[in-house]
Amino acid sequence: MGARRALSTFLAVEGWKRSTGYGVRGTSIWKRLLGVVGVVVESVVLEDDDGVDLLIVAVRPRRGTRPRCGRCGRRAGFYDRGGPVRRWRHLDFAAVRVYLEAAVPRVNCDVHGPTTVALSWARHASRFTTGFEDTAAWLTARAPASAVAELLRTTWRSVTGIVERVVAEAAGRRDQLAGLRRIGIDEVAYRKGHRYLTVVVDHDTGRLVWAGKGRDSAVVRAFFDALGEARAHQLTHVSTDAAEWITAVVAERAPQAVRCLDPFHLVAWATNALDEVRRGVWNTARGGKGGRTRRSVTLKGARWALWRNPNTLTEKQRSTLAFIQITNKPLYRAYLLKEQFREVFAIGGRAGKTLLAGWLAWAARCRIDAFVRLAKRIRHHLPGIHATLDSGLSNARIEANNTHLRVLTRQGYGYHSAEALIAMAMLRRGGLCPPLPGRT
Ligand SMILES: [Zn+2]
Repeated sequence: MGARRALSTFLAVEGWKRSTGYGVRGTSIWKRLLGVVGVVVESVVLEDDDGVDLLIVAVRPRRGTRPRCGRCGRRAGFYDRGGPVRRWRHLDFAAVRVYLEAAVPRVNCDVHGPTTVALSWARHASRFTTGFEDTAAWLTARAPASAVAELLRTTWRSVTGIVERVVAEAAGRRDQLAGLRRIGIDEVAYRKGHRYLTVVVDHDTGRLVWAGKGRDSAVVRAFFDALGEARAHQLTHVSTDAAEWITAVVAERAPQAVRCLDPFHLVAWATNALDEVRRGVWNTARGGKGGRTRRSVTLKGARWALWRNPNTLTEKQRSTLAFIQITNKPLYRAYLLKEQFREVFAIGGRAGKTLLAGWLAWAARCRIDAFVRLAKRIRHHLPGIHATLDSGLSNARIEANNTHLRVLTRQGYGYHSAEALIAMAMLRRGGLCPPLPGRT
């Protein structure tokens, strides 16, 4: 038996290219099984690839379809028959890898010149079919790209390339920046904090709507350029982390928008103040650098107990907190100050403002240096914080988005470019995930 075995009689019981009892020809069965449109199946063979079976399905575009440019989709005239026959990886048939095979003619586009014709089964310049790519993207929106690569028997790099193509296509179809009213502008670090993306989220939908490389006023301007003047003037609220490079551009491009401070960052300020107190107490307890006592060990381990929301504490963390309450009054007071501050944003509105006023009075006379300084800083930013409390922006949602992006960028070392990382973020947080093939 040769390396290629024709499968024509294997599937089409009633005969290849002849009507079956149900009026379906063998070639049509293949086409329907593959889920591809606009093609004619010419042959199906099993090919031996080093002991592994590959199913090779030779196809050609259906006659009568007017050729279009593969890059822009405009109608274009025939140019030539193109180069050698090409293959596209398609979704597996059970354990067997499937490839479509075809010769791709070229057209002469008015804009792009001689280009390969637009195909009904694959995106331009891809080695995968659209069905394969949509499946890979759908899975990647829900699972680690490495798991997707293993399941689909391809590489991590291929998966990220697929995500870039799929997201570019989806972004071209939908205006991500339409109807924005309340947005948040923030930065996220990747490559172990050496590089940054500037991200824009829609507070009303919770979606990531824009991301750009870098963190400076030029990136923020690039966002406002994409948004356009008319839509920038429709913005009612813009939340930021008080960074001058963002707020200055917002004041210039969307002067009417109320400028808020992201509660997520404010709570982080309080958490940092608490950690400063914990480190100070720990250093004293261990009796100077390099020292170690039972108390200092407990305090070192207390970091997570102090950081976490009280309702997510484990039993052990709860007892650590109880221990601190008894043995270390200033640290426990600092913890309460942090928790009370978090509560301000959980409540929001007028009640939140009242609570904040009380908190400021408490912090100012608490005699814990880090919190006295924090109270000063909060007072300095009070108008922006009040705007946040009035706006009713959900801190929980902002925090969830932020956490998701951080998890994503922690894997950032693996991305070959900022663009690949941005595409992944838009797929997962931007609502640009395609439906699974054959389902809508
Ligand atoms: Zn073109």
